Amino acid sequence: MKNCSEEKEKYIKILKPFYHEISKIDIPNKISDNITLSTIHGCPPSEIEKIGLYLITEKKLHTTIKLNPTLLGAEELRNILNLKLGFKTEVPDIAFEYDLKYPDALKLINSLQQAAGKNNVQFNLKLTNTLESINNKTIFTPGEKMMYMSGRSLHPISINLAKKLQNEFHGSLNISFCGGADCFNITDILNCGLSPVTVCTDILKPGGYGRLSQYLEELKNWNPITNKLEFLNSYACKVISEKAYIRNPFYSPDIKTNRKLGYFDCIHAPCADACPTNQDVPDYLHYTSIGEFKKAFEVILKKNPFPASLGMVCDHLCQTKCTRINYDDNILIREVKLFIAENGNEENFLTPVKENGIKVSIIGAGPSGLACAYFLRLAGFKVEIFETKNIAGGMVADAIPAFRLKAQAIQKDIERIKKLGININYGNKIDTSAFEKIQKESDYIYLATGAQKFKTLGIEGEKAKEVIDVFDFLSSVKKGNKVELGNNVIVIGGGNTAMDAARTAYRIVPGNGKVIVLYRRTKHEMPATPEEIKALVDEGIEIIELSTPEKILIKNGKVRALICSKMKLGEPDSSGRAKPIKIACSEFELPADTIIPAFGQDVDIDFIKPELLKTDASTFETQIKNVFIGGDAMRGAATIVKAVGDGRKVASQIILRSGIRFNFDPEKGNRELEYKDYIIRKSRRMKGEKVTEISLEERKNFNVVTSPLSKEQAVKESSRCLLCDDVCSVCVTVCPNRANYTYFRKPVNVDIPKAVKTDNAVNIEKSGVLKITQKYQVLNIGDFCNECGNCTTFCPTSGAPYRDKPKFYLTSKSFNEVENGFLLSKLQDKTVLLHKINNEISTLTLKNGKYIFESENVKGVFNGTDFLLTNVEFLNDNVKEYEFSQAAQMFVLFDSAKNLY
Ligand code: SF4
Ligand code: SF4
Ligand code: SF4
Repeated sequence: MKNCSEEKEKYIKILKPFYHEISKIDIPNKISDNITLSTIHGCPPSEIEKIGLYLITEKKLHTTIKLNPTLLGAEELRNILNLKLGFKTEVPDIAFEYDLKYPDALKLINSLQQAAGKNNVQFNLKLTNTLESINNKTIFTPGEKMMYMSGRSLHPISINLAKKLQNEFHGSLNISFCGGADCFNITDILNCGLSPVTVCTDILKPGGYGRLSQYLEELKNWNPITNKLEFLNSYACKVISEKAYIRNPFYSPDIKTNRKLGYFDCIHAPCADACPTNQDVPDYLHYTSIGEFKKAFEVILKKNPFPASLGMVCDHLCQTKCTRINYDDNILIREVKLFIAENGNEENFLTPVKENGIKVSIIGAGPSGLACAYFLRLAGFKVEIFETKNIAGGMVADAIPAFRLKAQAIQKDIERIKKLGININYGNKIDTSAFEKIQKESDYIYLATGAQKFKTLGIEGEKAKEVIDVFDFLSSVKKGNKVELGNNVIVIGGGNTAMDAARTAYRIVPGNGKVIVLYRRTKHEMPATPEEIKALVDEGIEIIELSTPEKILIKNGKVRALICSKMKLGEPDSSGRAKPIKIACSEFELPADTIIPAFGQDVDIDFIKPELLKTDASTFETQIKNVFIGGDAMRGAATIVKAVGDGRKVASQIILRSGIRFNFDPEKGNRELEYKDYIIRKSRRMKGEKVTEISLEERKNFNVVTSPLSKEQAVKESSRCLLCDDVCSVCVTVCPNRANYTYFRKPVNVDIPKAVKTDNAVNIEKSGVLKITQKYQVLNIGDFCNECGNCTTFCPTSGAPYRDKPKFYLTSKSFNEVENGFLLSKLQDKTVLLHKINNEISTLTLKNGKYIFESENVKGVFNGTDFLLTNVEFLNDNVKEYEFSQAAQMFVLFDSAKNLY
């Protein structure tokens, strides 16, 4: 703001060797003549006015005052934030009390506008600052009472504040904008007459600053409108009900996985990590995106024999960890699978290898048993299945309602498996002697009986005939039998089976009938998938939360009502969910004609003693040798995909135990992309496709509710995949300080030697191998990192990139100031990599074509080509052996870090 010609010349001189053209740029001596004042929350209006007047009258600067969103007023703000958008964010009264009030703001604006006019400078507003709210997040220190909200939820609030102020001043205010601006709403904001626009939250998300190019593209195609105030008024109404700004009430995304983060090889697709069958999602999405549907189908069938059924009813954990969540919408991974299952139909590639003479018997023809059979049969085993019922497919075939799963889908999957040459013995209930016989005739057995016994309520009245078994109910309806439920149906439970039962009952009860779901926690703790809960609520089924059944009232031999108690949530229990605690004297009565308990199933194996069923979690083997157990029979009622995943894992165990080599991994397709292509792809936001559903008025039947994707939709949706198994670099793109750095490393195997000192010699032996399999690796530059933690928020592992990746310092000074880190030092005749751990320094020196590793305890000389240890000297008499894993890591980092310096 002052004349800076001297400083300007100084910096031009420094920069000239790097940017030769710099002196040709016309940089004014007075760089800026305007200022934005952003006061802290709670700054008194008189103070803001005084500072504003000083800047305008004394300093003659064009002045912008940044205002807080609380200016909208408590009622209007909470109405938008909590009621309309559904955020739980609590803005306390105190936040409104301390901040500038609306009448004071009008006074302030008038006063500063007048002063600006007199002084011939501009006066502007900037909307808005962050919103002060109660700290309810575990990521902040619990002692911290307040936190500051920004991003998409702030957008409708700030726009509505702009509308209010602009209407007050008949559209005459100059307002710049910074509330949740992104590449999708930038042209709308400008059409509202709000400019300039500043962007923060959006570019601190994966893709980062690279996304600014998308803003420019949007602006290139922008058609400015003339009546800006009119547009602002209509846009302010529209944003309040736009899906992009509304919180999903059933689901709070969290992309972090349990995967550990180490120095190297951190790239994994989070979708595949989350999938119980480890489905190679990016591969099948890639093939779908280029129209190679058969190849996509091959990839899917390598790990998952139920593509048609799981394409419809999988609980899709993959989608809950999809990297795209932090951009726009998760990819519809499940729907693409269904499209492929219906359109990638050539299955000639599914041919079992030559029979190996080993027999496996499987008890239970549900998804887990069939999956195990499928993989074993492909690997050449003889497989025989024993099934109690007269159909295969377990509860999937027998109980999942037709409005969720087409009968043809499960039949298609089952037929494909049977065609491989698997014998299923139907109507075969296994008892002790039958089991002993099977044991004698088989090399291995897989117990995949499922969990078929429903838990009972344990309350008075539950023996009444109107208290019905949920599985019998679903099965009977599915078979097309007529089932009478009466007018009032209560389903007890919060899992997918309860949702299925309630939605089935809704389709059966008469027009004036009512279906209620009773659940002891709140819907946020329900184990059912968010889509199922949403569908249930959409269909008008009431969920009574925090309630537990106490007693069933019977009148004239028939169920009349259910007495319930209210619950409250306590501390988390072993499931990690808040424990429901009964509230004394809180009973209430619900009218009921039919009650359907659906809150869990037990395992029902009576032909083996329970103590023998105890399982080794890593092998799935029971206490009986070569007898394995998995799926619901092992873990209790869980999801179909977990059962399928267990089936494959047990098949792998049996294959391994039999000494047979069989690979389930599909060949990885070549995506023919350069690193730059990935980074450009990863910088762009792209809205996802929508699943079409039949209207709510047409739901009183058993037609499938959702429609499959069209070919165009499937290709478009798959093209949004960020191919997270090839390149991640999320931590690099989200770092505001450019402190994380992707470097390229040729995959390499470095032997880790161990030196063992004997009385008269030092022996060198191989202790392990440091395998570097990935081309792209990440390191952190300590000098730039201020430990803000943004990279940790978005890294899909459980780790923190800035802490867990090798941390390099760029100067001896900065390296000397820390206790841990790396420094590469290039001297005249040698290059040295220093590694400090708790202030103890080890070095790796490259001199005359040899690497010399030195630590406090040992000195080792390695040859320069393949890092083989050729000579060892122990420097500490007390140390008798030394493993050179640190040296191997330093060798890998040595070359990689060179470009940093
Ligand atoms: S973007 Fe693609 S690879 Fe990445 S998590 Fe989502 S589906 Fe998987
Ligand atoms: S913690 Fe460090 S590396 Fe991570 S985003 Fe912040 S500054 Fe960047
Ligand atoms: S965010 Fe960074 S550290 Fe985390 S997995 Fe991706 S590349 Fe690795």
